[in-house]
Amino acid sequence: MKLTAENNDNQSTMATTEDVFKKLIAHAKEYGFIFPSSDIYDGLGAVYDYGQNGVELKNNIKKYWWDSMVLLHENIVGIDSAIFMHPTIWKASGHVDAFNDPMIDNKDSKKRYRADVLLEEHIQKLEEKISKEVEKAAKRFGDQFDEGMFLQTNPRVLEVREQVASVQNRMNEALKTDNLQALKTLIEDCGIVCPISGTRNWTDVRQFNLMFSTEMGSTAEGAMKVYLRPETAQGIFVNYLNVQKTGRMKIPFGIAQIGKAFRNEIVARQFIFRMREFEQMEMQFFVAPGTELEWYELWKNTRLKWHQALGMGQENYRFHKHEKLAHYANAASDIEFRFPFGFREVEGIHSRTNFDLSQHQEYSGKKIQYFDPEVNQSYVPFVVETSIGVDRMFLSILAHSFTEEKITREDGTTDERVVMRIPPQLAPVKLAVLPLVKKDGLAEKALEIKNQLRFEFNCQYDEKDSIGRRYRRQDAIGTPYCITIDHQTMTDETVTIRYRDTMEQERVQIKDLQAIISDKVSIRGLLQKIVS
Ligand code: ATP
Repeated sequence: MKLTAENNDNQSTMATTEDVFKKLIAHAKEYGFIFPSSDIYDGLGAVYDYGQNGVELKNNIKKYWWDSMVLLHENIVGIDSAIFMHPTIWKASGHVDAFNDPMIDNKDSKKRYRADVLLEEHIQKLEEKISKEVEKAAKRFGDQFDEGMFLQTNPRVLEVREQVASVQNRMNEALKTDNLQALKTLIEDCGIVCPISGTRNWTDVRQFNLMFSTEMGSTAEGAMKVYLRPETAQGIFVNYLNVQKTGRMKIPFGIAQIGKAFRNEIVARQFIFRMREFEQMEMQFFVAPGTELEWYELWKNTRLKWHQALGMGQENYRFHKHEKLAHYANAASDIEFRFPFGFREVEGIHSRTNFDLSQHQEYSGKKIQYFDPEVNQSYVPFVVETSIGVDRMFLSILAHSFTEEKITREDGTTDERVVMRIPPQLAPVKLAVLPLVKKDGLAEKALEIKNQLRFEFNCQYDEKDSIGRRYRRQDAIGTPYCITIDHQTMTDETVTIRYRDTMEQERVQIKDLQAIISDKVSIRGLLQKIVS
């Protein structure tokens, strides 16, 4: 039967409402992507577990990133450093003294907020006002509407734009100069209220260190305070000499690492967007002093290509240049993705100067230098970093993929489905093998096909319920292909292959399955797009 599908929400603009985001979170749990941590004990704030489908998707994201770094670049190698590190590392890196967020409490609700996040949300609301004005005007003027002109001339828009610029400038200035009183005054001037109590009864703004600490060794012998690493990057810096020497690496070269990081986030919200335990994929690229800004531009472009190769819409990404630079950086940009709650950072690209290596050189007393035969001198290398959160990347894929569709059959009847349009290369399960009925040898044939394909792809076999319900189950986890074995299969060695996104079906030879599927699901295809 031929089916046509129509998205309930526009795929390119994505779902934007809070309701849809709630549905997505419920879906992620129901279909084994993400569970709250310690679920049977009612969860633990901002900590999550990945389920049977989640872990596959997560592993595929990590493989895509790892291969794009290590396979595509002869001069990038990987490491896996320990989470616990010598505590002086965090002193040297500046994290003990400066890894802080400005926080503010509402005295009535007793809720704690990040002062900068409250202001950013306020700015976002103002920007939404502008979008609404544009929408209204577009409706009123129809084809005659000139958006550019409207944005430049409409008095209401201009007024709100001015407010946005003023709040942004005052916030940047206050953050740059660590002026906590100015942040508080700005929150008051903007009339920001606590979303829980609805009041403006705020405490002063204070700094809050985000590192978790614990103790190593028994207290009797004087335990040492150690930190759970808040970023994986320092594990790379302190191994710079080891890798450079043992790998005989020549500058420019990079070290890549994937691993857990921990931050005691004050505002832990928006599902897996901001977690207290999360995973990072970081690459530190060591370059000659003076060349770092060229490499920074190059890595910005390379990383954007990595994202765009997934085909989730060019319009859903943008760069955001940092106004307030971290103490170690001389340039920094984020790649932002359009999440259901607006454009937010998914990855940071930072030109970290030679700050970290110089600091470790000073604190460890070990010479961390590179002798560059090209210029015949030694120097502390400069570093360009690309740093992306696995979990945030995961959320961007989940949010973009989640689609509710209305289906109209040929006979006019309708149905609905939820389909996860996950890029096939990253989908947790690549194909499901489904016998139309269990009898007449169809189940055995289906298992035989599955057993051939399982060496290459993550396959599922399912014989329960009607074929329609089985398709829906696979749609809900984003399986790009369903292979159906019917009576014709037993006579001519053909099967139907059903495509997740179009729901179209095609009859193909069993012997061709491996090539057809491999072409679409292999990470090689994504990697080729990056280098093309
Ligand atoms: P934010 O401004 O959102 O707090 P950040 O600028 O502190 O993020 P970085 O220190 O640059 O983040 O970390 C690099 C990447 O690690 C981020 O782009 C993000 O994808 C991820 N990341 C950082 N903090 C978290 C977190 N609490 N939960 C999940 N991912 C995170």
